[in-house]
Amino acid sequence: MPNLPAAPPSPGRLVVITGPSGVGKGTLIRRLLKTCPEFRLSVSATTRAARPGEVEGTDYFFMDRPRFEALIEQGQLLEWAEFAGNFYGTPRAPVEAQLHSGQSVILEIELQGARQVRRCFPVALSVFILPPSLEVLRQRLEGRGQDSPAAVAARLQAAVQEIAAAPEFDRQITNDDLEVSLSHLVAILRDQS
Ligand code: 5GP
Repeated sequence: MPNLPAAPPSPGRLVVITGPSGVGKGTLIRRLLKTCPEFRLSVSATTRAARPGEVEGTDYFFMDRPRFEALIEQGQLLEWAEFAGNFYGTPRAPVEAQLHSGQSVILEIELQGARQVRRCFPVALSVFILPPSLEVLRQRLEGRGQDSPAAVAARLQAAVQEIAAAPEFDRQITNDDLEVSLSHLVAILRDQS
């Protein structure tokens, strides 16, 4: 019998996770990646200054506005948005390469970007993470001490608009207890495989 060429890997799944700043998406996703190593997290580009402890190329690709605008002009971003005074965007090439090689990819992005992805990848699974309440969100944003009072206010204002859009997403999770939210998210992702 002739040797048949190996079948190409089936493409990976694209998962968009959105929720207001401070809702705990980052912690949830870090835990998810340990539980489900088949997923990769896309590293975004941003014009925001690095926070203490953030690592270039791991947390974000930090850059100035001209460089970010050049990426937009060259079509190198899958989606991008301005959020609370800074630009954020998803580098296109690594996501496409990972999906093509059968790897599933998570995008942790805000609402405008999630809408762009849904338009160009209608099969993407979208999950919205809700806070138990706006008051809890405010306490979490203030408690992490990473942003100025003005930045916290801008993020809370954005949160109100984002939460109103939660029903647009395929699934919603209220992040009250991290372990409960994690098992809910894992169940959603494994259910879709
Ligand atoms: P932070 O400054 O707190 O790291 O992120 C602010 C917001 O930007 C968060 O809601 C985060 O999900 C979102 N964000 C991070 N990377 C991207 C990206 O590549 N594209 C878009 N549209 N939003 C992003």
